[in-house]
Amino acid sequence: MHYGFDEDEEAFRTELRRWTDKVLAPHYQSDDKAAQFRRQQAIDMAQMGLTGLRIPEAYGGQDATAVIAGIAAEEVGRADFNAGYLIINTALISDILVRNCTAEQRADWLPGIASGETVPCIMITEPGAGTDAASLSLNAIPDGEDAWRLSGEKTSITLGMAADRAVVLARTGGPGARGVSAFWVDMDDPGISRGAFDDLGSRAIGRASIHFDDVRVTRADMVGDEGGGFVSVMQGFDYSRAIIGLLCLGAAQQSLDEALQWSRDREAFGKPIGTFQGVAFPLAECATYIAGARHVCYEALWRKDIGLEHSAEAAMAKFWAPKLATDVIHQCLLTLGHIGYSTEHKVGQRLRDVIGLEIGDGTAQVSKLVIARNILGRAYAP
Ligand SMILES: Cc1cc2nc3c(=O)[nH]c(=O)nc-3n(C[C@H](O)[C@H](O)[C@H](O)COP(=O)(O)OP(=O)(O)OC[C@H]3O[C@@H](n4cnc5c(N)ncnc54)[C@H](O)[C@@H]3O)c2cc1C
Repeated sequence: MHYGFDEDEEAFRTELRRWTDKVLAPHYQSDDKAAQFRRQQAIDMAQMGLTGLRIPEAYGGQDATAVIAGIAAEEVGRADFNAGYLIINTALISDILVRNCTAEQRADWLPGIASGETVPCIMITEPGAGTDAASLSLNAIPDGEDAWRLSGEKTSITLGMAADRAVVLARTGGPGARGVSAFWVDMDDPGISRGAFDDLGSRAIGRASIHFDDVRVTRADMVGDEGGGFVSVMQGFDYSRAIIGLLCLGAAQQSLDEALQWSRDREAFGKPIGTFQGVAFPLAECATYIAGARHVCYEALWRKDIGLEHSAEAAMAKFWAPKLATDVIHQCLLTLGHIGYSTEHKVGQRLRDVIGLEIGDGTAQVSKLVIARNILGRAYAP
């Protein structure tokens, strides 16, 4: 068994940590206060190659492995959790486009994502369809042979206020997953209107409800086959769930590092608080759980890279890591005492931010359904 990162992966992590500390970390709290997506962040991240990680070099990307994308998410999560949404969105969406698009579509659409000019979002959720995504009802009404008109509402869309383009799932056929097609939609279309959520966390990225009023799309905008949109989009989610896990664990590890330092420096009853087992043991537990969840995330990505089945591992990563990160960050906040409760410290913001990914991209229950199906067998799916 070969265990560990190779030299290139270690070098990538070292370089990225230096860069994220310098370029991303200083904006984490101010971007949250502004509650607005800062366009320069996409440009900065693109220059570092972070928006083109999963895009082939021919289209301006890095052609990076899934493991490298995981390292990127983990390091960005330490410095600015919310900047990590750009990695999640671009990696997930470019994977979907690379797998399902024609050469012409790829050449048209992928370079903009890699260069940071096109901020993409993905629209699945609707007011009446969340977990049960296959029941979505955004209508794609035929308009001649090779065109459709989209009408309806999508909701809870990450980067929905800022995005330039979107992968939109719409119903071109009958009920269920087989009646769903995917389109690459220009968000500047006059038939599109957007409304922002006032969220607990990740305010710099934002979520939005998007209204479609007779938005015309053609076959040239279709991602993959008619009726194949649901399956092709959902396949992308498989591996992105492990990337989400690592983003959350990055934020947890940074909080733990800060709590450990505080436990060395802060004194009570004449001693550093780290000498009290009531302080040290919870931190030891946090370190142990983070190590376990990291292994699950990286195993899922490694399996993806070498072409092995990885949906159970990715689901384990998605159910465990965001919940664990929330618990770890909460524990670290308590270890910092009253300092941790102040908005001047980043730990409280991390707590608000990571909770979102306990829900976004599917809740723990959905992940457990996937895991259960894998360990029990398909016959036991509800
Ligand atoms: C931060 C954030 C970012 C998001 N970004 C996007 C995005 O970019 N694009 C997008 O399309 N959507 C996005 N979403 C929406 C997200 O995917 C949905 O919120 C999620 O799929 C759950 O759907 P719902 O909120 O409608 O909950 P519901 O489906 O209404 O579920 C409510 C509760 O019931 C549970 N539940 C439902 N069915 C079952 C079942 N069969 N067994 C057990 N429990 C069940 C759920 O786990 C949940 O706890 C985002 C959400 C958040 C919070």
